[in-house]
Amino acid sequence: MKRVSLLASMLCLSFAAVASGAFAQEPAGKPQDPNKPAPQEKAPVAPPKAPAATEKATVVFLGNATCPGDSKPVDREKFVDVDGQRVYVCSDDCLAALKKDPSAAKSALAKAYPTATAIDAKKCSCGEAVEAGKAVEVTFQGKKAKLCCADCVTDFKKSPVTAMVLMTHPDLKDAKNATDPIDGKPIDPTIVGIYKTHLIHFGSWTTAASFEKDPSATVAKLKLSS
Ligand SMILES: [Zn+2]
Ligand SMILES: [Zn+2]
Repeated sequence: MKRVSLLASMLCLSFAAVASGAFAQEPAGKPQDPNKPAPQEKAPVAPPKAPAATEKATVVFLGNATCPGDSKPVDREKFVDVDGQRVYVCSDDCLAALKKDPSAAKSALAKAYPTATAIDAKKCSCGEAVEAGKAVEVTFQGKKAKLCCADCVTDFKKSPVTAMVLMTHPDLKDAKNATDPIDGKPIDPTIVGIYKTHLIHFGSWTTAASFEKDPSATVAKLKLSS
């Protein structure tokens, strides 16, 4: 009940913010000069821009969007792991087909991630610069990353999603929480969320989604600076 009322008051606050924002954009009521024609109606003011990505809670999903079996949207709870990468499918039937046939799973992986694009990262996942001649390239779910050495490749493969996110968002700090801040269950290394400068781990897409809607409980639980 407490959470609901908190949420309700937050909604009120954000409505109030929107309302005052809209009011602030109204032109000040200047007295009209009767000798001048009425001023032309100004072009409508562009709606305020969405807050910067880091101000909004975001859940990261680096998986395939459509099922390799029948091109339907995937269900993130249904997947097979192939060569350390995750192939998401749409249904139990599509899942069963891949689970009983390793070669079908392999070709589903190729279909899920047909190309690999280099991620925009200046440094290795360890934070070191990558020396041109010594870079070791890894591919994960359609993305390629350059790492500084073989040891970092080993580390990368333990939690590729976290490594990718930290490489592309060097301003983030990993909260390194071992349990889900919302339901206390162990985290899933493939489910991470971003809020401000925090990278936070979750145990399920359901808890991650409630974080995305309202990060305040997560921030409080992990005692993060908000
Ligand atoms: Zn399917
Ligand atoms: Zn490294």
